[in-house]
Amino acid sequence: MRTLLGEGLRQGAVGMSSGLTYTPGMYAGTAELVELCRVVAQYGGFHAPHQRSYGAGALEGYAEMVEIARQSGCPVHLTHATMNFGVNQGRAGELLDLVDRALADGVDLTLDSYPYLPGSTTLAALLPGWATEGGPQATLARLGEPDARERIRYEVEEKGSDGCHGVVTDWATIQLSGVRDPALAGAVGRTVAELAAEQGRSGTEVFLDLLRRDELATTILQHVGHEENVRAIMRHRAHTVGSDGLLVGARPHPRAWGTFPRYLARYSRELGVLTLEEAVARMTGRPAARLRLDRRGLIAPGHHADLVLFNPGTVRDTATFEQPRQPAAGIEHVYVNGTAVVRQGRTTGARPGRALRRTDRGTRAA
Ligand SMILES: [Zn+2]
Repeated sequence: MRTLLGEGLRQGAVGMSSGLTYTPGMYAGTAELVELCRVVAQYGGFHAPHQRSYGAGALEGYAEMVEIARQSGCPVHLTHATMNFGVNQGRAGELLDLVDRALADGVDLTLDSYPYLPGSTTLAALLPGWATEGGPQATLARLGEPDARERIRYEVEEKGSDGCHGVVTDWATIQLSGVRDPALAGAVGRTVAELAAEQGRSGTEVFLDLLRRDELATTILQHVGHEENVRAIMRHRAHTVGSDGLLVGARPHPRAWGTFPRYLARYSRELGVLTLEEAVARMTGRPAARLRLDRRGLIAPGHHADLVLFNPGTVRDTATFEQPRQPAAGIEHVYVNGTAVVRQGRTTGARPGRALRRTDRGTRAA
């Protein structure tokens, strides 16, 4: 793994991500991640974990990621840094205290978040890890076995599945956002609880049968966020904007289209949680610095002319949960590498962008 990772970094990767709520990522132990992060650090990259839990074990999960950074010397960027589910209501301050202690100790740490309450993932992600062993075909076969179904029901409904952050799944919070099988299209937009009530069956039965019929392809919105946590985290000095958007499905999470204008409109102009300058820094200079982008993220002599010209009085997100595929309003001109790609609100068709790769001196165009 270390050899493969080094190869990827030499080819220009900016760092390593990990998905520790998901199989097979969840099988990686702390010591293994420390070893890999040592390689990332050698090349000047960073670790971007989706950590083990955003629910019952959220704080322990964040502490583990910080510990990996301390032991390996590798910078860490806490991806979609949320404190979700009932167990974490009002507890953002505990996460931010952990972040402040790490920063005070010299750990190179940043984090990002999206400005919405629900999360989004796949329906299959809620399954316990053991139930997905052996890959999709083995999983589908298991979903037809009565013993396995009962064991899954117990973990999801009573114990708290590791695939659901160790929290008991409340079916009223699980809303379908996309299906592969057209015959299931009527279920999109409904919660598993609603479907269960309608069909006179339990939430788990509906859940398991949807997974089988849709061959694990169903995507969901998970209504588990807290407004006060979202606001507290976005104010932190190490915070950057991230959409965590999934672009697939009939009704994907609107954050894929609305995240950036929503920070400017709702959280800066309307609510005043951030000043306009703070909001802009979180989506330009700060992430560019984390990615070590060479001469990007600031408007300065000698920098690449990547510019978004928006109207601060009218910029806003128009993407909604009902109609998520909506572009932002109030963005008038966009330049990439000095070439207009949006002019007076319309795309020009120009594609002057280039893939950027990591080098020892920052990024360069591929
Ligand atoms: Zn994630």
